Parts: sequence; C-alpha cells; structure tokens
Amino acid sequence: CGIIGYVGTENEAVEVILDGLSKLEYRGYDSAGLALIEDGKIFIEKKSGRLLNLKKALKGRVDKSCIGIGHTRWATHGNPTDENSHPHFSQDRKVAVVHNGIIENYIDLRDKLEKEGVVFTSQTDSEVVAHLFSKYFDGDMISTLKKVKSIIRGSYALGIIEVDNPDKMVCARKESPLIIGLGKDKNFIASDVPAILKYTRDVVFLDNDEMAIIEKNKVTVFDPQGQPIEKKVTKVEWDT
Ligand code: GLU
Repeated sequence: CGIIGYVGTENEAVEVILDGLSKLEYRGYDSAGLALIEDGKIFIEKKSGRLLNLKKALKGRVDKSCIGIGHTRWATHGNPTDENSHPHFSQDRKVAVVHNGIIENYIDLRDKLEKEGVVFTSQTDSEVVAHLFSKYFDGDMISTLKKVKSIIRGSYALGIIEVDNPDKMVCARKESPLIIGLGKDKNFIASDVPAILKYTRDVVFLDNDEMAIIEKNKVTVFDPQGQPIEKKVTKVEWDT
C-alpha cells in the first residue's frame, strides 16, 4: 500500500515511479501498477505479485511520458489479481486513479453506478472513485475531486490523472498518508518521504481532507472547502 506520482518534463515518469515503488516496498504489497499519459491516451500496466512482474511487463518500452501515477496494493476488497491491481480507470479510459485506504460506502456507490450502466472491471472498493470522477468531471480537476470527496466515505490517499489534462495530477488524503515533493521542473506525490528522496528534499505534508494540484512548475494546495492555501515547505535532513 503505497502511492507515487510524478509530473515533470524529462520523460522519466516510469523510472521515477518504479524507483519510488521499490522504496515503498517496506510497507508491504501484493500487486503493483502504473498509469501514464502518452500520445493523448492513458496507458496502464498492472500486475499481481512482486514489483518485478510489473518491471518485466514494462521491459523494452520507450518512456515517453511526463506524467504518471504508481501504486503498490495491499488488498482489502477483492483478491490480489491483475484486474484488482491499481490504477483503476473510467469506462472511457480517460481517468486513472490510485487509492490507498478503504472506501466504506463503495457497495452503495457501485450499485448506483451499475444501474446507470457503468460496467466494473474489478472487485475493489477503489474502482468507484474512477467512475465517479469521470461522471462528475466538469473540466476542473479540483472541483471534480471536491465533488467526489463529498460522495465517498472512508480513508484514502488518492492520486488521479485525466487524459485531457496531461500537465497536471490531483491528489487528496483522509486518514491515509500523502506527501508532496517539490523538485525543479518536476513535482511528486508519495505515501512517504523515502520514495522521492532521491529527487528532492523539499516536502509539503498534506493534512487530512486537503487536496492539491500538481504541475511540473507549480503545486497548489487546497483546504477542504476548495480554497487555495499556503503550506509550509519542510527540508528533509535525514537519509534512508
Ligand atoms: N482498498 C483498496 C484495495 O483493496 C486499496 C488497498 C491499499 O491501500 O493498497 O484495492
């Protein structure tokens, strides 16, 4: 159960994500996956088992992406299978989501979405977030995230990308950890500091119910009402 996300310029998304996931291994996991925006499409690869399985599946791929999210899963709802691994995606594959935690009201939400014709591809609690984000997407990543947050209950760290916004990702947390790393022409999200320490020591700690937009040269944090706020930047002095 770990999250890593990258927005930058240097076509190093896959490298950063795989490196970050390996640093989060200590948290324990049964599956790993990533989503990238490439050539105007979302690319997803996810595999149950060790991180090596994901690395093998990606072998030989040219990394052309400047944005991506990665996940190691500790299954709570749904067996550790490839389908149940994260990222999860909307039906039109325009939205991809990584989630740590538990969406407590997912059965209700899933029932409602299925009645509206949404076809689910996994047994997880997390997949509802991708479909809800797609359903309520209004062109503004933060107002959409705020809407989704008002519907879901439980604990979460979330990282979300949307194909028509290839220069930004959004994130939110409630009861599950999530930090933001500030780099030069690149910024990161992660469950924990070691995942990004190779790239930066400047870190913003998100508080409960806060959200953020991460762009390569800009990070904006929002309070639970959706108002932009100033956050303290902490310089991490320790090593792993
Ligand atoms: N509840 C989610 C799942 O079972 C996320 C688990 C996690 O935090 O890794 O897929």
